[in-house]
Amino acid sequence: MKPTHIEHIGIAVKSLEESLPYYENLLGTKCYNVEEVKEQHVKTAFFLIGETKIELLESTDPEGPIGKFLEKKGEGIHHIAFAVDDATAALSDAEKQGLLLIDKVSRKGAEGMNIGFLHPKSTHGVLVEFCSK
Ligand code: ZN
Repeated sequence: MKPTHIEHIGIAVKSLEESLPYYENLLGTKCYNVEEVKEQHVKTAFFLIGETKIELLESTDPEGPIGKFLEKKGEGIHHIAFAVDDATAALSDAEKQGLLLIDKVSRKGAEGMNIGFLHPKSTHGVLVEFCSK
């Protein structure tokens, strides 16, 4: 399944409060949505640049995925999300091609999107997310 565009780039930050002014200044636009995703132990903040979003991710639990990422690698790019028509179908296509998955079927992410991740072991070190409405 071919992605239509980059839906968003996920960036791990220590603090939304501290990083928001930097990104608002850099991108020349205000963050349009802040949302907590409890299951993922993150608070997210979104910017829209053309068709693509920047998703800032602040950890709400050191044991959560972003908490662990920050502990290991510090702030920085965490994942790239590709927009597809059907995230679950894209995941199963990827599995058929021999890629390892984190999510076999899509689940609900921020902004009500259906999301699922490929395992970075089989994606040359980049955490890849598929995203559909
Ligand atoms: Zn994402």
